[in-house]
Amino acid sequence: MDFLLNDEQRMIQDLAREFVDREIIPVAAKADQDQHFPLEVHRKALELGLLNLELPTEFGGAGLGALEVALVTEQLCRGCLGIGAALSISALAAEPILVAGNAEQQKTYFSRLTAGEFASFALTEPSAGSDVAALRTVAKRVDGGYLLSGSKIWISNASLASLMVVFAKTDVSAGHKGITAFVVERNAPGLSVGEPLGKLGQRAAPVCEVFFEQVFVPESSRLGQEGEGFSIAMRTFDRSRPMAAAFALGVIQRSLDESLAYAKERRSMGKAILEHQAVGHKLAEMRMKLEAARLLTYQSAWLADQGRPNTSECAMAKAFACDAAMWAASEAIQVFGGMGYSTEYPVEKLFRDAKVLQIYEGTSEIQRNIILRELTR
Ligand SMILES: Cc1cc2nc3c(=O)[nH]c(=O)nc-3n(C[C@H](O)[C@H](O)[C@H](O)COP(=O)(O)OP(=O)(O)OC[C@H]3O[C@@H](n4cnc5c(N)ncnc54)[C@H](O)[C@@H]3O)c2cc1C
Repeated sequence: MDFLLNDEQRMIQDLAREFVDREIIPVAAKADQDQHFPLEVHRKALELGLLNLELPTEFGGAGLGALEVALVTEQLCRGCLGIGAALSISALAAEPILVAGNAEQQKTYFSRLTAGEFASFALTEPSAGSDVAALRTVAKRVDGGYLLSGSKIWISNASLASLMVVFAKTDVSAGHKGITAFVVERNAPGLSVGEPLGKLGQRAAPVCEVFFEQVFVPESSRLGQEGEGFSIAMRTFDRSRPMAAAFALGVIQRSLDESLAYAKERRSMGKAILEHQAVGHKLAEMRMKLEAARLLTYQSAWLADQGRPNTSECAMAKAFACDAAMWAASEAIQVFGGMGYSTEYPVEKLFRDAKVLQIYEGTSEIQRNIILRELTR
């Protein structure tokens, strides 16, 4: 057993850390305020080789694993959860293509992603979030392909994406076994994207509704076989949940960094507040939870890279890290006192951003359902 990162992993982590300090932290507050994703940051991250890490080298990717993705993602989200998430969504959308795409599909779509195009992952619908089997978007068989009708909600990066991985029912009577996955072109006639939705946090990352009115999708854009969509989505989550947990690591680390710096400077009753044990213990607790969350996250990613089952480990990492991030961001505000509530300091943004971690990629409740299911299997 070896808990040390190798040279290549440390190098890419350092590269990401420096990039974030230089390119993300300085623009994060404004991007949040303007609810605007800075495309310039995407261009620079792409040029530096911080994106498309898991894609095969023959299509311009780095050919790395889920662990390296987690290391980089943690840094990106330390800088800003909104910008970090928006930079990571194409990797989420690439997973179903990695899991189920044929050679031709991988070549076509991955070449576009490595050239700088964005992709979205479109599963959630107004009446189907946790309950994936309740999807209502329908893909009706026609000559040469399918006609998609329905709508999706909460689709990250939909306003930036040129490609979308869409899950729809090819058999409405078959529950989750009737779901099929497709790669759909953003400019396909009948597909429209709503205005970015207003939201509590993660404001630099655009999230929209997507509408399908008889959108023709050729058969060559179907991922896997009809009815395999649910299994493709679940296998995707076993690879993407370590990344979602890494989003949370970034938030915990930043909560700790900001709290420690402030607690050393701020004085109360004759000493730095860090020296009041009630405050110092908050920092010790943040450090403990960060380390525990990191170990769970890296383990779940490592298992994915070894091709070993990791469903339970992913759920534990995701739930623990995301709950810890919400707690840490709240405690960071407490350490700052009144100034923590002010928009002058970054901790109120951490607090607003952190909440969504317990909701997307499977809520904290759903992760516990998965852990229990695996425990009692
Ligand atoms: C900012 C943001 C970005 C997102 N990005 C994407 C994206 O890119 N692509 C995408 O497809 N989706 C995305 N989502 C959607 C997200 O994955 C869903 O919101 C999430 O899965 C929860 O679904 P829901 O909102 O329908 O809540 P519901 O499923 O209605 O859940 C409501 C509450 O009930 C609980 N609950 C529901 N069922 C159970 C159960 N069986 N056991 C215990 N508790 C249960 C939930 O935990 C939750 O607390 C995003 C959401 C947000 C907010």
